[in-house]
Amino acid sequence: MNGEGTLDLSASATAEAILAQSASAPDVVAAARARAESQARLNAFITLASADDLRAAAASAPAGVLRGVPIAVKDNIATTTLSTSCGSRILDGWVSPYEATAVSKLRAAGAVIIGKTNMDEFAMGSSTENSAYGPTLNPLDLTRVPGGSSGGSAAAVAAGICRISYGSETGGSVRQPAAFCGIVGVKPTYGRVSRFGLVAFASSLDHIGVFGKSVDDAALGLQVIAGHDTRDATTVDTPVDDYRAESAKPLAGLVVGVPTEYFPVTLDERIRARCHRAIGVLRDLGAEIRTVSLPHTDYAIPVYYILAPAEASSNLARFDGVRYGPRAESDDLRGMYERTRSHGFGPEVTRRIILGTYVLSQGHYDAYYRKAMLVREKITQDFTKVFAGGVHVLFTPTTPSPAFTFGSKSDPLEMYLSDIFTATANLAGVPAMSQPIGLVDGLPVGGQLLAGHFREADMFRAAYALEKALGSEALS
Ligand code: GLN
Repeated sequence: MNGEGTLDLSASATAEAILAQSASAPDVVAAARARAESQARLNAFITLASADDLRAAAASAPAGVLRGVPIAVKDNIATTTLSTSCGSRILDGWVSPYEATAVSKLRAAGAVIIGKTNMDEFAMGSSTENSAYGPTLNPLDLTRVPGGSSGGSAAAVAAGICRISYGSETGGSVRQPAAFCGIVGVKPTYGRVSRFGLVAFASSLDHIGVFGKSVDDAALGLQVIAGHDTRDATTVDTPVDDYRAESAKPLAGLVVGVPTEYFPVTLDERIRARCHRAIGVLRDLGAEIRTVSLPHTDYAIPVYYILAPAEASSNLARFDGVRYGPRAESDDLRGMYERTRSHGFGPEVTRRIILGTYVLSQGHYDAYYRKAMLVREKITQDFTKVFAGGVHVLFTPTTPSPAFTFGSKSDPLEMYLSDIFTATANLAGVPAMSQPIGLVDGLPVGGQLLAGHFREADMFRAAYALEKALGSEALS
């Protein structure tokens, strides 16, 4: 099989073809790179690895479950072979001296990292319009955003460049772009995947997440990077389920909760209809459907936009032009100062730092930060109660609207509402994923599944059955 032909295979089938020597890893990776180059106008990549480096990496890829499988990685996940800019001028060209644990695990499984993908600066945004390297275009409609902040990784999969890519999630940055690009996006349980080497935005909310063309691709993509890591004390030492095996289980006995708060009267009727269709399919497959309530859902956005900027203002203090930032070309401090200013943070990052510093300042801390922490606990308890009551997974829309056009959300507050259905899972730390459930006006709609802590397997089981039953309806 030639390399081009393998681009349509699932990630596991690609690796199997390479292991069986019916396809060659260097050919597969070269085909992915060629497709990325032919789709350059999407601006999905900040850096693409050179053809020579890729050939060498593919030829020596270990014989693991991802042998020779081309992978794209968001530009805030550290790699020693390619720069890690976080979509920011302040880190332009910076090459990390160490690799993220997720990247080391990918390499050990035989994956080949073809490039680093475009993103909103420091992962702050919902459209990839906040990148210092220009916006990424949605491969399904070039006039629309791919979502964000992991827009480049979502576009790479949607454009058929690779079957699996990685992004990061603080409030929805994998699920929302997955929904906008008609692919699968997974945010694991907080503590399931190591954050070592993920550049920090808001540490208590940050996760590495995975995009897949299909549920099976995403399950394999998560399987490889999941697990305990001594270099991230927040990872948990519990066994990792076999997500692909669990996906194949029938739905009889599975209880699907439908939370009323995620279907407000203001919800777009066409999105509501798509969700109800998907819920009907789950019922037909043998799942029990239950209406449930998560009463503190409305507070998620205000709580998120206090806590995330607070943590960001502390985390981003390291980019001060001394430890990181524009390199000093001489001892000329004045010149270095000027460069830091002219290559500094963009407007959204600046806004977050100011907001975060404000909510942490003396006199405001109790009114904002402390109160938000208390409400975060209430949001978490909502989930704990529902899952303790026998519900296995929840089904909701992923986003309140399909992909929007460039520049249409210039009011930051309007942009922040993109995360209305996703931020809760980051606050509570529960796993959640998005998958395509149909089109509205020719644009994909995402359905979201959420599960209890470390119950990714339940989520994949529902998602896989739904994907199979919907078939081509998911993208029509
Ligand atoms: N859109 C949200 C924000 O701007 C979430 C970003 C993310 O998940 N990284 O903060």
